[in-house]
Amino acid sequence: MTSKPKVESLDTIVSLSKRRGFIFPSSEIYGGFASCYDYGPMGVELKRNVKDAWWNKMVTMRDDVVGLDCSIIMHPKVWEASGHVANFTDPLIECSHCKLRVREDHLEFLDQKCTSKNKEHSWGEPRQFNLMFKTNLGPVESSSNTVYLRPETAQGMFVNFQNVVDSSRVKIPFGIAQQGKSFRNEVSTRRFTFRTAEFEQMEMEYFCREEEGEELFKYWRENRLNWFKDLGVSQSRLRLRDHKPDELAHYSRCCSDIEYLFPFGWSELEGIAWRGSYDLTKHSENSNKNLVWRDQASGETFTPNVIEPALGTDRAILTFLTDAYEEDEINGNKRTVLKLHPALSPIKVAVFPLLRKDSHPEKSREVYKMIKSSYAATYDESGNIGKRYRRQDEIGTPICVTIDHQTFDDDTITVRDRDTLEQQRVKIDALKGFLFEKFKF
Ligand code: ATP
Repeated sequence: MTSKPKVESLDTIVSLSKRRGFIFPSSEIYGGFASCYDYGPMGVELKRNVKDAWWNKMVTMRDDVVGLDCSIIMHPKVWEASGHVANFTDPLIECSHCKLRVREDHLEFLDQKCTSKNKEHSWGEPRQFNLMFKTNLGPVESSSNTVYLRPETAQGMFVNFQNVVDSSRVKIPFGIAQQGKSFRNEVSTRRFTFRTAEFEQMEMEYFCREEEGEELFKYWRENRLNWFKDLGVSQSRLRLRDHKPDELAHYSRCCSDIEYLFPFGWSELEGIAWRGSYDLTKHSENSNKNLVWRDQASGETFTPNVIEPALGTDRAILTFLTDAYEEDEINGNKRTVLKLHPALSPIKVAVFPLLRKDSHPEKSREVYKMIKSSYAATYDESGNIGKRYRRQDEIGTPICVTIDHQTFDDDTITVRDRDTLEQQRVKIDALKGFLFEKFKF
């Protein structure tokens, strides 16, 4: 079976995101600011839900992973030891006619023609361009106080390895997980939030013995792929791609990407890498601190290997939004619906009085208050009921509850399901139990 992207053009998602308050261009009143985006009222809820779903699966539900939240600006020696100062570069090439700069290894995706009259692009020699943003700590700009905005969260886990071991009861194999902002001065940042200068990552370093590496690498590939499937991403638009030997960094034992079929083609969503003992060894050498695991029982000492699943939060959000997008027809009317997994939906339940003037707002507000004490809910009495349903469908609200005339006769309300469009009457007393079953994830 050949797979097809869920939507033909990314513009569909860009426009829905703007219209419904998921994602806005940054500083839009000043004409927007390339490479940066802002999450609106719906986007911020979606983002929190994505991060919670990840944290829940990777930390809360496990006994062998602990969390960390470390600073974005770290000692500059961290980035020397990790190799980022010397090697975190992309090959930059420039067209001598129109001055367009692109990544040499991204040329195959370039759809921008040379803007100089009647000319083809003429590319110069590649220059290595470091992706780290530099700034200065303190009031004086000098090379002695140069610091970097972190380009990944991973190094925080390596430099805190000993702190975590000493302060918690972890036993190898164990993981340290972190979510937070990272920054990369990317050569080209197109494709909406797929590649931006400022983004969030959710990364975990799983420390283990070398002989466990292969097994655990396979385990984490599957585990991470299943996270997307469990959250409703279509299996036919997800695949694992193993890196070829010539793609691997010299220290990397194995690496696989989870790829998603975006409207612009298969692209990396998450990387899972078996990094050997490279990172801890480098930090041990550069800090003169012995970052090793000591087995209490046997007295054995060794530098652990690490398996790293590294995901971009914004790429995950773009994937969930794209994969959930559908257009269908109800009674001859077109509808746009986001079939988001309920765990990710910004709003779980919308409450409406059928007709503002007839159905006592007090009753509707009472039901709304009851739901809101347990679930993200919204109350809407503007426009006709059809419009209200459309609004909720477009932001992916799984359940709409309507208070109507019959509510006053038998204490029931209408519950409407976003995906099946089925409507059923449920007693107000039973509503909490009904929602509990629906949102059991
Ligand atoms: P790419 O090849 O796309 O540049 P990468 O292999 O350099 O990505 P990693 O360093 O492995 O990426 O980072 C882990 C994850 O962080 C990526 O899989 C991606 O989801 C996310 N990510 C990396 N760079 C960006 C960016 N500029 N904007 C948004 N997300 C990013």
